[in-house]
Amino acid sequence: MIILKSPREIALMRQAGQILAEIMERLRAFVKPGISTAEIDREVEAYLESRGAKPAFKGYRGFPATVCTSINEEVVHGIPAATRRLKEGDIIGLDLGCVVDGYYADCAFTLPIGEVPPRVQELLDVTRESLERAVAQCRPGRRIGDISHAVQEHVERHGFSVVRAFVGHGIGRELHEDPQIPNFGEPGRGPVLKPGMVLAIEPMVTMGGWEVRILPDRWTAVTQDGSLAAHFEHTVAISDNGPDILTRADQGS
Ligand code: MG
Repeated sequence: MIILKSPREIALMRQAGQILAEIMERLRAFVKPGISTAEIDREVEAYLESRGAKPAFKGYRGFPATVCTSINEEVVHGIPAATRRLKEGDIIGLDLGCVVDGYYADCAFTLPIGEVPPRVQELLDVTRESLERAVAQCRPGRRIGDISHAVQEHVERHGFSVVRAFVGHGIGRELHEDPQIPNFGEPGRGPVLKPGMVLAIEPMVTMGGWEVRILPDRWTAVTQDGSLAAHFEHTVAISDNGPDILTRADQGS
């Protein structure tokens, strides 16, 4: 069942989303060669606490950290560790979630560490663009399949692959609500979008094949073929006027 949110609920989710947007900005400066993923995790947890928000992922089905840190061939759900230090030329996916007064927001982005080859930068650019194209579909009357198709079409046109095993999701009082939002599919199919729906849209894209496997830590998903992967995510409310991105920094007035 897809739960519609009231304006009051969306306002709380926007508060959570704005905190995540602030953290994303800070991490752009903080994340650099030599830093460990555990340091990133501590930085994010301290910031959430300073803003009065709770981590969404820590303890979720036993996940042990505040941020998912997924390096290179790791697609999603990488676990921060003091022994994992970033190197020049790596890429890192950072997936962040928080809760404000019982309401969740969820976002992710992938950063290059120093210089990366042009095709790797293209992977990041195309994945981010595919999210933007998906968000543009978030209007009353469109369907979930329109979001899915927008991602798949853009990604595959550039010679990359869309991960099948993980999907976007509704979000609200729970981190994961209905509907599921695959990053592949046919336009004009699936549930119709309505004002008050809030969706976490999250393309996961690889340079090789779409197959993934889970490491023995039971969390980290890596590409089966070892190819690099990128992940971007926003929490988006469907409004009468179209998409309302709750995890994008307010531009101010
Ligand atoms: Mg998510």
